[in-house]
Parts: sequence; structure tokens; C-alpha cells
Amino acid sequence: MILLATVFPVLGAKERLRLSKAEQQWLDNREVIRLCSDPDWMPYEGIGEAGQHMGIMSDFHQLWAQMIGKPLELQPTESWEQSLQFMQEKKCDVLSSAQDVPSRRYYLSVTRPFINYPFAIATQPDQQFIINLLPLMDKTFAMIKGYAAVELIREQYPGISLMLVDSARAGLKLVEKGHVYGFIDTVPSINYQTLRHGISHIKISGVLEQHYAMSVGVRRDLPLLLSIYNKAIAETREVERQRILNNWLSLELDYKINMTLVWQVLAGLLLLSGLFFYHYWTVRRANRQLQKANRQLEYVSQRDHLTAMPNRLCLHQAFEAELERYHRYGHGFSMLMMDIDHFKRVNDRFGHVVGDEILKRMADSLTQNVRGSDIAGRWGGEEFVIMCPETDLDGAWTLAEQLRMLIGQADFGIDSMTITASFGVTDFRDDEMIEDCIKRADQALYRAKHSGRNKTVSF
Ligand code: GH3
Ligand code: MG
Ligand code: MG
Repeated sequence: MILLATVFPVLGAKERLRLSKAEQQWLDNREVIRLCSDPDWMPYEGIGEAGQHMGIMSDFHQLWAQMIGKPLELQPTESWEQSLQFMQEKKCDVLSSAQDVPSRRYYLSVTRPFINYPFAIATQPDQQFIINLLPLMDKTFAMIKGYAAVELIREQYPGISLMLVDSARAGLKLVEKGHVYGFIDTVPSINYQTLRHGISHIKISGVLEQHYAMSVGVRRDLPLLLSIYNKAIAETREVERQRILNNWLSLELDYKINMTLVWQVLAGLLLLSGLFFYHYWTVRRANRQLQKANRQLEYVSQRDHLTAMPNRLCLHQAFEAELERYHRYGHGFSMLMMDIDHFKRVNDRFGHVVGDEILKRMADSLTQNVRGSDIAGRWGGEEFVIMCPETDLDGAWTLAEQLRMLIGQADFGIDSMTITASFGVTDFRDDEMIEDCIKRADQALYRAKHSGRNKTVSF
């Protein structure tokens, strides 16, 4: 059993009811007022997970308990019908909400009504508007078992076919599934239950003339308690009544809460997708930077730092690629090895800076005067190698001679000295290693040097 409002706030004299001597005496002999309620009739009332009474009726009864000056004790029940049973068995003094119907009169008195709502009918959305139930007597309607409303409706529409259900939710579900034509209850209850249980395929198709006048039910043998409650209801200020009703019936409130939740979920999703895209974007950017850095690294590792032409490593890779073509397609190739004549003297006379400049011009000159398919690179020091795909020994020799003439006539910016170069030329031959070919070119070059320089020798 749960004590409700056991600790009362200090109440001003104005808020306490003025009771008769007999009423006060009756109260003084009681420790609590025992309350029975409907465990499943939100928003009017229900029993929460912690066993507490809640809803419109709960707020009203808390207020009245304060006005009366006596704590309430909730007698939890499983169903509305059980609550009626408890009242008959005198296990409760008060029934939180009841309607005056003949079948209850022998054990129950009711106070003046404190809430009045017309009955409404919930149907599927495509049904017509209903003002009167008479034309719909061939249909079946759901109503909650044991509610006074059932008696009132039966009295008004004797031929009506009713299917009695345990809860508003069950009734609304029957409508949603098309098992009954409509569910009869009050508008607040229908609205609350449809929202609460996410029943969407429902509309309120009509409001009937009959009203649900809700009163407090009091045991018939406790007339003093009845008059106490009647006083409490009469003294309840309209502003309090509205506050309680608004507290539970404000659909806008539910809507706002739902919207807040929707916005929160949306914001969460937005944040998550933002984080995801940010992560994706940073990884992509990092990958791009890495790829760029790798390309630069590869480029730098294959380039000569002074002349920016292919270095020895790059030339070796070109040999490997050409060798593969040779073995796969039988395409031959030749190579030229070139060495600047007496370059030491250039350095000695003009200094290393000028020497470097001449090496750069030499690199440019070679690069510009070979075919696109040829690869001219710096072998080391003042030595250069040119690899000529699809070129036989004669062709390579001719190229070497052209280049040698060109160098001899070129302007390297040092008037007093002519720059010349010697060339060793060879072609790749069957069953040899690339090193053999390089060695032969080197030997040819050596021969060119020893035969007086500024010469081309082919082996
Ligand atoms: P030869 O005709 O026999 O080739 O005579 P050489 O003087 O060219 O040959 P040697 O091998 O005796 O000297 C090569 C010179 O090339 C030595 C070195 O100072 C110079 N040299 C090599 N690399 C560079 C470089 O990067 N910059 C400059 N300025 N000089 C270099
Ligand atoms: Mg040399
Ligand atoms: Mg030299």
C-alpha cells in the first residue's frame, strides 16, 4: 500500500476546508483515506512503474487530501473492475473517479461532478463524420469493460453492438486493424492513448451529446466523507482545476517534447555524419599528401640533384625495362657513354661554380637533342649516358657524332675555351648481361679518349 501525500506542505487556513463538527470528528477517527483507482486510464489516471498514482485524478486527489487534511493511501488494484470490487468489499473508502449509474448505487454514492467530457468516437481516418450513433447500429463499437460509460451508451442506444475491451489501447488497436468500427471514450483519453502507443491510423470522427460526468465515488455507508468531498470539490478553485487539466492534457507539451527529441536525434545524426565526413576528408587529404610526397620522393630518388636529369638509378631502371622489351619482343637498343674532355681543366681555370653551370647546360643540350624515346641521364661526375631504344649500332654512332659536333659548336659561356666530349657507343647483344653492354660502352669511350679525345668510338 502506498501512502500518498503523507507529508503535507504547511497550508494556510484559507486552503483548509471548513468542516462541520461531525465531519471533523469522523476524520479525526481515521488515520488515512483509502483510495481505489483505475490502474489503466491515462491521462485520467494510472499506476506508474514505482506503484504511484498518477494522472489528472491523482493531482485532484492530492489537492483535496491537502484541503481535507488527511493523507491518502492508495489500494493498488489490477483493474478498474477490481477497484469496484474493493469498494463493494469496503477495502477502499473512495473511488478516485466514478459516474452515477444505477448498477452501483447500492454500494456507491457520488459527489458532484468535477470534470465533464463528451464521449467521442475514434474510427479509421476514411470514415464519415458521426453526429449520432443511430444510423450506425449495424456496426460494432469497442468500449472499456466495467466503465459507467458502457451503461450510459447502452441506455441511450439499446440496440448497439459493443465489444468490451480491457484498455483504451486494446480498443484503439481493434479500430486500427478494422475489427470494430469505432472506439468510444473521451477525447483526452483517445488522444493520449493514440500518441502514447503510436497508433496512427485513427481519427476522432465524432463527439456525442452524452457526457461523461466524473465525480468522486464514496462508499455509500460513509455519508460524512461524501459531504467532505463535495465541499472539497466545491472549494476547488477554477485556476487549480485548469492547472491540473492542462498539466495532463496539453498535447502541445507532448508535441514539444517529441519535437525536442526529434531535433536532438537530428542534431546527433548531423554531428555523427559531420564527424564521419570530417574523418573521411582528413584521411583522404592525408592519403593525397602521402601520395604526393611519395611521388616527389620517387622523382627525387631518380633525378640528379644538379642537372635534374635522370640519375644513374633511373638509367638502371630504364635498362631493366628495355631488357624486358628486348627479351619479350626482340626489340634491340643501343647506348652512348659520353665524357667531357679535360673537364678538370675547366674547373681549375674557371672554378667549380662555372663547372657546375657547364654541366647543367650540357644536360639541357643532351636532353633537347635526343629523341623522345631516348633517355639521357647523368652517369656521374662529367659523364653522361644515353639509352636509345629501337636503335642499332650505326644509328647510335650517328647520334653520338651529331651530339659531339653540337657540343663542339655550343656556347657554354666561356669564350676562351672550347668544350668537347668523347663518346663510346655500343648495342645490346644476345645472351649478355646489361653490365657487359655498359662495360663495352665504357671501353669504347676509353678508346675515344686515348685516340685523342673529341672522338666517337663504337664497339
Ligand atoms: P678526361 O678528358 O680524361 O675525361 O679528363 P677529365 O679532366 O675530364 O677527367 P678526370 O676524370 O681527370 O676529371 C673529371 C673532373 O670532373 C674532376 C672533377 O673536378 C670534375 N667534376 C666531376 N663532377 C663534377 C661536378 O659535379 N661539378 C664540377 N664543377 N666538376 C665536376
Ligand atoms: Mg670522367
Ligand atoms: Mg672527362
